[in-house]
Parts: sequence; C-alpha cells; structure tokens
Amino acid sequence: MENTQTLQVVEVQMPMTAETVRQHVNLVQRIMREVMKPGEHYGTIPGCGDKQVLHKSGAEVLRLAFHFVPTFSITRAELKDGHRDYEIVCRLMDSRGTLIAEGVGACSTMETKYRFRTERLCPKCGADAIIKGKPEFGGGWLCFGKRGGCGAKFKATDPAMKESRAENPNIADVYNTVLKMAKKRAFVDATITATSTSDIFTQDLEENADVEREKPPATEPRKDDELPEMISEAQRKFLFVQAKISGLDNDALKTFLKEQFGVESTKAITAVDFDRVLEGLKRMKTQPEPESEPEVPSEEDTEKTEGPSEG
Ligand SMILES: [Zn+2]
Repeated sequence: MENTQTLQVVEVQMPMTAETVRQHVNLVQRIMREVMKPGEHYGTIPGCGDKQVLHKSGAEVLRLAFHFVPTFSITRAELKDGHRDYEIVCRLMDSRGTLIAEGVGACSTMETKYRFRTERLCPKCGADAIIKGKPEFGGGWLCFGKRGGCGAKFKATDPAMKESRAENPNIADVYNTVLKMAKKRAFVDATITATSTSDIFTQDLEENADVEREKPPATEPRKDDELPEMISEAQRKFLFVQAKISGLDNDALKTFLKEQFGVESTKAITAVDFDRVLEGLKRMKTQPEPESEPEVPSEEDTEKTEGPSEG
C-alpha cells in the first residue's frame, strides 16, 4: 500500500511540528487528488464560497489512510414533548491507542428540519394527500385518492396549495437520524482536526444552522453505548434500483422517504429500516400511476383531458 510510508506521521506524539503538519496536509491533498471524488467525498455549498465541505464518506477515506481508530461518547438529553439532544465526542486514536484528536458534534430534534414538517393540506377535504400532477395531465395538484384524498384537482398557482409548517407528530422517528447526524458532525470535526486540514476543509455549516431551542437540556444525560448502523452504499443503490422499478423518479423517492420514514435521503436510512423501506418501495409498484387513474373516477369522466377542476 503506497500510503504505508505516511504511517510514521500519525505515530508522532503531540505536539506536532510544523513539518508534521505540512506532511499531513500534503498527504491529504494527494488523497483528495487520487482517491476522493469531488461531490462525493467533499464538495462546496452553493453560495458559501469555495471552501470544501468534508463529507462523512471523505472523512472515512482519511480515517482509513491515517489508520485512525474512532471512539464515540454519547450524551443524550431528553427535552420536553419527546424532543432530544445528542452531544457526541469523537476521539481519534492511532493504532497504538494514542489520542490524536477530539471532535464534538451535537444534534437536536429541535432543529428546524427535524422539528417541523411541511404539509400541503387539501382545502376541500383537509386530507394530507396532495400530490403533484404530472405535466402530461395538466400539472397542478391532485388530492390523491389512494392516500385518502377526495380526488380534487388544483392549479399549480393556486394559493391554497402553499405548504404550511407543522410540528412533526412522530418526533421519535427522527431520533436515529439526529443521533447519526451528531455522530457525523463529531467524526468530521475530529478528522479535520486530526489531519490539520482546517485550511482545506470545513464542516457543513448549513446543516448546523437553524437550531431552535426552547430550553437547555433538562433531565439527566445518559449514555448510549451503541450506535445504530446506516444502510450500506450497496443497499442504497439497491433502493434506487427498486425505486426505478417502481416508477419513482428521484423527487418521488425523496417524497416517499420523507413521508413514510421521516428521512431526507437514502443516506439517513438505518440498517434496521432497510427491509421496511424496500417493502414500501415494492408496494409503490403495485399502485397505478396516480394522475392517470384517479381512485374516485365518478366525477371525472374524461381521464385524458384532465385539467384543474376549478378555475
Ligand atoms: Zn381533498
């Protein structure tokens, strides 16, 4: 393995010399060129300058290259209304157990994207069953019968179709996502510190933003000793394939994941949820195309010239 010679870099005891730091940075830059893929292992955030955000997968590559061994200490705080905070300390050790760096990461179900969900309720029947109509059927919105809707159609520009924000009624569904996010933040933080690459990499600040806290952690923190595993890359690809088979495009898959499992992407699916997600995707296949076959056809006799029912 061509990185073997760099092992000695890691074994140097702290504090690191300027030369050591430079070696680290050089090695990281080489790994970026030769191993990592932009957009996959790191990438920029639009509108946030050209500093590279180190993704979890990129941090994993560096961890392997530097032979870091991570450990995680998790502190959990229960907040009111079922909300939770996780604070995680990630320690990266070398193969001899010498501490190289620590990183911290926190995540809370009170963060906007977990605390709230957007919903678009039907102004006619009140059901949370509005789906986007396909362009070939006039676009707009449909109150989908298969989801308990009334079959009403609305224009794309209908102001009643605006999304509203509601408290997530099943906040426990995002515990795992929030835990993984805190773990990721701690791991990436520790990796950047351990490799002395804060000049090259930054953390995804956008995802750290918009925290809405009501009060500091109240109850006694407790330790979790095991982190749930997320699905593998292969499993993710498998889900994409199944989604395709079921006729879901990326947007539809995203909507499915968010509505059925409360996650933003396949990366947030836990290993224990994999089978359920897969089954869900398979079930999607047995359903007819939503827009072309409304469940309640009684009011709609003309399926081909479907347009918004009201003007
Ligand atoms: Zn409706």
